[in-house]
Amino acid sequence: MTFIPVSRTNASRIGQVDFKNLEFGLHISDHMLVAEFSNGMWQDPKIVPYGQMQFFPAMMALHYGQSVFEGMKAFRMDNGDVSVFRPGTHFERFNRSLERMCMPTVPPSMFMDGLFELIKTDQDWVSGVPGSSLYLRPFSFASEPRLKIKVAEKYNFIILTSPAGPYHSKPYRLKVETEYTRTVEGGTGFAKCAGNYGSSYYPMQLALKEGYDQVLWTDGKEHRYIDEVGMMNVMFMVNGVLTTPKLNTAILSGVTRDSVLTLANDLGVKVEERRISVAEIGEGIRSGHVTEAFGTGTAAVVAPVSTINIEGTDLHIPEPGDGSFQNRVKEKLERIRLGREPDKYSWNHIIKI
Ligand SMILES: *Cc1c(COP(=O)(O)O)cnc(C)c1O
Repeated sequence: MTFIPVSRTNASRIGQVDFKNLEFGLHISDHMLVAEFSNGMWQDPKIVPYGQMQFFPAMMALHYGQSVFEGMKAFRMDNGDVSVFRPGTHFERFNRSLERMCMPTVPPSMFMDGLFELIKTDQDWVSGVPGSSLYLRPFSFASEPRLKIKVAEKYNFIILTSPAGPYHSKPYRLKVETEYTRTVEGGTGFAKCAGNYGSSYYPMQLALKEGYDQVLWTDGKEHRYIDEVGMMNVMFMVNGVLTTPKLNTAILSGVTRDSVLTLANDLGVKVEERRISVAEIGEGIRSGHVTEAFGTGTAAVVAPVSTINIEGTDLHIPEPGDGSFQNRVKEKLERIRLGREPDKYSWNHIIKI
């Protein structure tokens, strides 16, 4: 366990937060973890009050995009403990993303101990309001001020946390994207790097204007096969088989995706990871063989899809009932996280407070 110095704020903002009415990502908790990479190594991390920081406008992340993030959640369990969901899996993915962007990986001691110490410091921000959580955002970016295009030599690692309420969205209307591309195989789709999101905004805005909530991305080569939603992975129930695109370098390997596939086995549902064509899903919805479609991601956990637009035609998927796979798996995941069901895969990291 690394010792991480904590400098506490004397002006907590927690009183300004209505924990029963949270807008995602709006409130940042009182403290943050900060660390710098310089002289070829990570310098000692520390926890300080959240606030403005100073950087040079020439910092390279702004110009050349070396910037990577993670997103996970901490929960207040029924017995009052705080648990973090699969931090080790998020840590490994973070380092895979960093490697893809030629950024220095972070040691587990800094990521994990820093994260747990930060959550301890701001434990009051993990409210016990049903369905709520503390969203955890570790990220790193190139902070070296220089205009030359090259791999930076100076970076910052920061962890912010933000209280999140239950995610009640109406079922998603997705537009299958066949003109624009989020990423291609060999690109950066599997990395949680900032550039993937900036480049998705334009096609997403077009979809929004046309009355859809999100884009369903297809492979960048032929636009024939389904990739993912761009902040969520996507799954379909096809003839009673839970079917999801097989991972490749264009698809982000979601921790929720992996958790849902694992729990499907426990629920006795067969799983297939394979290439899924847009045509197959179109025909399956029309014939009734596709009975469920949903997204998976840390923010929403499981988000139902009601409509998929394929080449200008809206296809409708029935609303998921209580007995649907997506509602059963969502419930099971929630029960594991809150300690109501045995955590047989050791997904919960309990923070001793
Ligand atoms: C974060 C993310 C997901 C979901 O991953 P989780 O680990 O389940 O939160 C899916 N697709 C993209 C592009 C993402 O950035």
